[in-house]
Amino acid sequence: MAESVELPGRLAILPFRNKVLLPGAIIRIRCTSSSSVKLVEQELWQREEKGLIGILPVRDAAAESSTAGSLSSPGIGTNLGERSSKTQDEISESHKHGAKNNQEVIHWHNSGVAARALHLSRGVEKPSGRVTYIVVLEGLCRFSVQELSTRGTYYTAKITSLDMTKLEMDQVEQEPDFIALSRQFKATAMELISVLEQKQKTGGRTKVLLETVPVHKLADIFVASFEISFEEQLSMLDSVDVKVRLSKATELVDRHLQSIRVAEKITQKVEGQLSKSQKEFLLRQQMRAIKEELGDNDDEEDDVAALERKMQDASMPANIWKHAQRELRRLKKMQPQQPGYNSSRVYLELLAELPWQKASEELELDLKAAKECLDIEHYGLEKVKQRIIEYLAVRKLKPDARGPVLCFVGPPGVGKTSLASSIAAALGRKFVRISLGGVKDEADIRGHRRTYIGSMPGRLIDGLKKVGVYNPVMLLDEIDKTGSDVRGDPASALLEVLDPEQNKTFNDHYLNVPFDLSKVVFVATANKMQPIPPALLDRMEIIELPGYTPDEKLRIAMQHLIPRVLDQHGLSFDFLQVPEAMVQLVIQRYTREAGVRNLERNLAALARAAAVRVAEQHNSVPLSKDVQRLASPLLDGRLAGEAEVEMEVIPMGMNKHEISNTFRVTLPFIVDEAMLEKVLGPPRYDDRETADRVATPGISVGLVWTAFGGEVQFVEATAMVGKGDLHLTGQLGDVIKESAQIAMTWVRARATELKLVTAEESNLLEGRDIHIHFPAGAVPKDGPSAGVTLVTSLVSLFSHRRVRSDTAMTGEITLRGLVLPVGGVKDKVLAAHRYGIKRVILPERNLKDLVEVPAAVLSGLKILPAKRMEDVLEHAFEGGCPLKKYSKL
Ligand code: ADP
Repeated sequence: MAESVELPGRLAILPFRNKVLLPGAIIRIRCTSSSSVKLVEQELWQREEKGLIGILPVRDAAAESSTAGSLSSPGIGTNLGERSSKTQDEISESHKHGAKNNQEVIHWHNSGVAARALHLSRGVEKPSGRVTYIVVLEGLCRFSVQELSTRGTYYTAKITSLDMTKLEMDQVEQEPDFIALSRQFKATAMELISVLEQKQKTGGRTKVLLETVPVHKLADIFVASFEISFEEQLSMLDSVDVKVRLSKATELVDRHLQSIRVAEKITQKVEGQLSKSQKEFLLRQQMRAIKEELGDNDDEEDDVAALERKMQDASMPANIWKHAQRELRRLKKMQPQQPGYNSSRVYLELLAELPWQKASEELELDLKAAKECLDIEHYGLEKVKQRIIEYLAVRKLKPDARGPVLCFVGPPGVGKTSLASSIAAALGRKFVRISLGGVKDEADIRGHRRTYIGSMPGRLIDGLKKVGVYNPVMLLDEIDKTGSDVRGDPASALLEVLDPEQNKTFNDHYLNVPFDLSKVVFVATANKMQPIPPALLDRMEIIELPGYTPDEKLRIAMQHLIPRVLDQHGLSFDFLQVPEAMVQLVIQRYTREAGVRNLERNLAALARAAAVRVAEQHNSVPLSKDVQRLASPLLDGRLAGEAEVEMEVIPMGMNKHEISNTFRVTLPFIVDEAMLEKVLGPPRYDDRETADRVATPGISVGLVWTAFGGEVQFVEATAMVGKGDLHLTGQLGDVIKESAQIAMTWVRARATELKLVTAEESNLLEGRDIHIHFPAGAVPKDGPSAGVTLVTSLVSLFSHRRVRSDTAMTGEITLRGLVLPVGGVKDKVLAAHRYGIKRVILPERNLKDLVEVPAAVLSGLKILPAKRMEDVLEHAFEGGCPLKKYSKL
């Protein structure tokens, strides 16, 4: 860096448009305009000894008012306008601009900087052949322009130096102002340097400058090193006074320093944010990778969140909520693959789904409406309905009354379930059926503890979960079919369920927290009463439904079953009609049950067959507007032989009337006998059955009581060569076996009186074995009521006389031949009626039970009371028992 420069009196002037070259600054420019090229060529390129040139700022024509210290020259030289850019300063042409604005005034600044060329290079533009120069210039010292003139195409100026002499400088340097200013400047500059060094991690080379270069030059160098506005550059250039220059430079350096700091802060902040989000992103990426590796995915997380939401919505009681929270925390800590995760989740799902607070809103109970509802749904059953209304009335008066649990007892298909659901409808509550048939394990009622694999809640809790309210009507179906074995006693668990004292805090082993069952209305059903444990029976009020007479069945079928079946099959009466006579035939020939379940099934079969027939007739049926023919390509594959098969598409959601309309036939189908046979097959039962079966001696007709109601039971006895043994078959229980022994003994004891043996042979069993069989061998049988039937068959066997085929009997016998009363008389009488039996022999003491038998049934039957076995025999054989007169008993 030159210490001081000898300036010539005149300098070639290179204008800098809106740009200032300060002393100490180094700049690289590209000269392309003819005037600047000429200047460089003549003043620098062609000279042996490179001279100096003057750099004079020029205010852009577009820029506004001229400053005080500026010179104006009209028209000329506009093509000298130079422009610089940030990265590479270049002097560009502005011919066009200049040509258009020939008279435009150029504002020359009145002071400039003398510069020397550090480097020159020349280039030729292709293909125009225009010469250009690239010049690296170093600013040296300020000058002021005295006079501006042109030399050829470029300007020259008469100048005077503005720099202080060494002497003057030395003087100023002594001034305390200057010293203070320079110190301040240096400190600021130092600060800037260290900030820059920190940023760019450069060495301390710039610091050396501070030590070696005079401070007034440093001021220029520093200011030139960063970008400031043209005005600021000009005022820096104009700061000829070193103190002014220093204070200006200090201000500018400081401002630059601050702006760097602010920028840095912003960057740091942005970087901080970035790095935080980047960090998160990275972690998430890693987490995803880990989860993928483990075969896990994000769904699990969502699932747990959804589960938590569900739990919150379940509004559990506080203590249970706490328990659930604990379990949830455990779950959250687990990996989905971990053993126990799934069971924990399933458990929490159950907790969330149980109706802790959700109830069916109970309607204001309207007894009249309830009665109507029962009547609409059920035919007959007056007593049962009355009892239900009483039950409802009590509930109305005292909603939390701890009345007994209603238990409907009767054979299948008599309407037990549908009555229970009618109760629910009358109460406006939801209905849930829990089947207890075959439940032998206590855990089925009370749930398995969660420690077991595959453990689950008991049927009650499961039912409550399904029904979704805590106050449903719950039907405990087939409560008589629960049995106890090594796995516990379900009945004892049921006791707890039905006990109003205990069911407030019903404890399901799986659930492990108490659930209040006290708001549930329990209704039970059973086929038989006997198997129900007495303790359980004690909690229930038994309502018996004995089964229906054929007449009742007919009415039920006509009024309830047929409309329901038609509805279920999308049919109506204008479409299928089942005459009463045909229903009667179905009842007689195809069903022999106490209830109406098979009847309903048979009617459904008829409806199905009718539906098929109607559908087959569709060719002649005009298609309704809702029914579209299938497009022909679809039909192509459906051409059967010569005949074209068409199909119709019935839009979803069409109701039965629409379907019926679609298939409207001129006349409805009327079920006849032929159709019955075709659809239901040949008759399964007829009135000749008993006659056929008792066609040979040794067979008698008994009446028994089963889970399906009363039944007719044949007893067959036969004799063969043997040693006097008694063989019994037909899955018999101990009681019935003993009955057979008693019957045998009685017959043997009375053999002579009954003239079953000749005078010589006193032993009935001499040289023969007796085999007694109860047909329907697969059905287990037990009970004492077959006593009279057994005796009758043995007497028939030994006397070679046939038993009357129209007579059935029931009764227990004693060894002495007394006939004891039996149970289930009503059902047995109904069964006899069903089988077309005309005469029924009953123990005399059972006659009182006949009040329960519908009069219509009784009117078709002859009831024959029997006190002793001889009475039975008297009634059982055609023409009475001829041997009676010999009886001494
Ligand atoms: P259960 O529960 O006694 O085995 P369900 O209640 O299931 O019998 O009844 C079988 C079918 O018979 C149901 O469709 C029911 O509506 C019908 N049913 C039974 N009894 C009657 C009745 N008295 N009136 C009308 N329908 C009846």
